[in-house]
Amino acid sequence: MASSISTQLIEDLDIKPLSGKLVPLKTKGELEAETDLIDVHVVAVNPRRATDVVALIKETFPASRDLELAHLRGYTKFTLLPAQLRSRFEALIPDEREEVILSSLNAHVDGNEKRPPATPSPPVVLTSTIPRSTPISAAQAAGWSEHFWPCVYKNTNPYGPHPKILSQSTAIVDADAPRFLALAERAAQACHASNSGPSVGCVVVERRKDGIAEVVSVAGDARYGGVGSANSCAGNVMAHAVMRAMGMVARKRLRVDEDVQGAGEQSAEEQSAYMDLPLNELESKFFALDNIAPRGYLCLNLEIYLTHEPCVMCSMAILHGRFASCVFRRELPLTGALTTSKGKDSNSLGYGLFWHQELNWKFFAWKWLDSDVCGIEDDGSGVHA
Ligand SMILES: [Zn+2]
Repeated sequence: MASSISTQLIEDLDIKPLSGKLVPLKTKGELEAETDLIDVHVVAVNPRRATDVVALIKETFPASRDLELAHLRGYTKFTLLPAQLRSRFEALIPDEREEVILSSLNAHVDGNEKRPPATPSPPVVLTSTIPRSTPISAAQAAGWSEHFWPCVYKNTNPYGPHPKILSQSTAIVDADAPRFLALAERAAQACHASNSGPSVGCVVVERRKDGIAEVVSVAGDARYGGVGSANSCAGNVMAHAVMRAMGMVARKRLRVDEDVQGAGEQSAEEQSAYMDLPLNELESKFFALDNIAPRGYLCLNLEIYLTHEPCVMCSMAILHGRFASCVFRRELPLTGALTTSKGKDSNSLGYGLFWHQELNWKFFAWKWLDSDVCGIEDDGSGVHA
């Protein structure tokens, strides 16, 4: 079986892969779509009277034409209605179950249908709640059909990554995440043991065209500069694990690029404020490998594995560095900038920086869910990773 240059190094470290699974993060748009509900009018009519009713609705509610509700069925059979809506109609029209129910908006009817004779009994109109946004999974569409109104899933996602591409990426990353997250933990411990910083670590990986993953840099946090601190928010922010690992990628790129005059010397310059040279044996072993593709750009399409959800600064560095994907183990609601869920704590950031239409890059992001939650020794809450 083909293996990467770094594979042997990892095997020699005798690292025990984590046990758990990847959970794709929800984008901010996906989260908002889940709760974007509006009230509409729903009317029960005989199918032969549909044209008149729809014309009347459009005339009465002209603003409804601007609503994009293609994911909802314009009309449906009584038997396909959600139970709560069906029972509300049954209470009002118990003997007319053969009738078809039309939503007040976006109804599809045959315009050539003959107008039925006028009837003295007015149609029954109810107000009901529906989701305004397109469902992003078959399961969500099924749930909405059961609770709100029959809707259609079109295997697309306007608020986040395409389901098919996300599922392919998840399968690829899932195979390596247990080892790389365990390696990130080892990097965190190595720096923490020397009072360099809080126990935060990261691993940067380049995936070759054949699918094999190369570990190109490994870094722990070095914000305390070897003197330790009781305050995990203090210290040199440029020495966060993510910044250090990215700095090492830059140095390595310089080293392997033969076209740059004196690149070798520049890449081996003394330690900068970014602390982007190895601080211990573990970091040195991976930094010494010339295993990154030459002429690469920033961290374009690399993968990053983290012990903790990155802070706002590091999340933006990952984004601007053009990473393809990010996996982290411990969620940090107070300081992490990738998750969108607010959770129980209303002070959580919920930025979801990995997927914003306003930003010029997007990447896939997963949280690692340990099989045994008790296996996490320290949740690190409060730290800016
Ligand atoms: Zn950070």
